[in-house]
Amino acid sequence: MKKILGIFLALNLFAATGLCYGPRGHGLVGAIADQRLSKNAAIKTKINQLLDGLTLQRVATIPDEIKALDHNPNGFHLPGHKALEDQLRAFVAANPSTGQPSHHDFHFTDVPVFGNEQYSPGDIGRSQFDIVHMIPFCIRVLRGEEPENNPRAITKPVALILLVHYLGDIHQPLHVGAEYFDAQGNPFDPSTNNPGFADQGGNKLTLFTLVAGKPKSAGVFHSYWDGQTVQNAFGTANDLTIAKRLARTEPTDWKLSGTVDTWAEQMANEIIPVARQAHTKLAFTNINVAPGSTPGKDDIKSGRASEKKKSGGMFYADWAAATVKTEIQKGGWRLAALLEEILQ
Ligand SMILES: [Zn+2]
Repeated sequence: MKKILGIFLALNLFAATGLCYGPRGHGLVGAIADQRLSKNAAIKTKINQLLDGLTLQRVATIPDEIKALDHNPNGFHLPGHKALEDQLRAFVAANPSTGQPSHHDFHFTDVPVFGNEQYSPGDIGRSQFDIVHMIPFCIRVLRGEEPENNPRAITKPVALILLVHYLGDIHQPLHVGAEYFDAQGNPFDPSTNNPGFADQGGNKLTLFTLVAGKPKSAGVFHSYWDGQTVQNAFGTANDLTIAKRLARTEPTDWKLSGTVDTWAEQMANEIIPVARQAHTKLAFTNINVAPGSTPGKDDIKSGRASEKKKSGGMFYADWAAATVKTEIQKGGWRLAALLEEILQ
């Protein structure tokens, strides 16, 4: 019974956070940055003040946890940190899940993966409240360039908490790139005149990977990248041990150029080709566009994303796990560098 209850709780936790890197992925990004900044006393003091003593690893998952407030005022509590909790509640109230914008919108952007697009200058799937816009917004708040009583109710502590989380999300390929389908259910490159039907960043698709040569359901395509890939990448090893190791070894090609307010777009452009690969390795079938659906407004209802037969390359699960390992490490290093830059 205990075991069954454990599984039930784990499933519930996963369901509650199913739209972002799961708790472990976000926690690792924060933990790597905690390690990278551990010797910088000045920055550590500022972070401690802003986060009321909480670590980056702890706060990394809060932007998902507060989604529980959408329907239940008791869905989220931060015991011992009342002032911080109040600010987070005000943030949710200012950006309600039913509103424009909703705080859910801030976690992703949906750049079409079919063509050869970068984030700019396209418009399909982008918005002024997507992750590429919200990261610089939070940076401006922390720098005092945006007042803390802004319409989004993003105070400096909330801005820091959001940044820690969004730096994780923008390193999850399905948070940046998305597939679009025409009315017949074929993947295509949408345009303003012909926007097609989105797949909600893979949330409407069921992934089938090859296990012993046979396709086997791996669940919701987006959720697979949030959770299962992280488990596949890091296994049962202790998160602190993993974070210490990843903080010690410098990842290749992690450094970004220019000022920090341009980093979000650079990170998006870097991961779009990865998102493209995450889709081109799959075949899309049974795409269900409900009769009467409006292009650009309605999403597909369901569909299958199946791993193509192995042709000399890696299995999808192995490739995805290797990708996630690299991205989480880069996310942690970039988060630390970003905070050193804006909190110095
Ligand atoms: Zn998220």
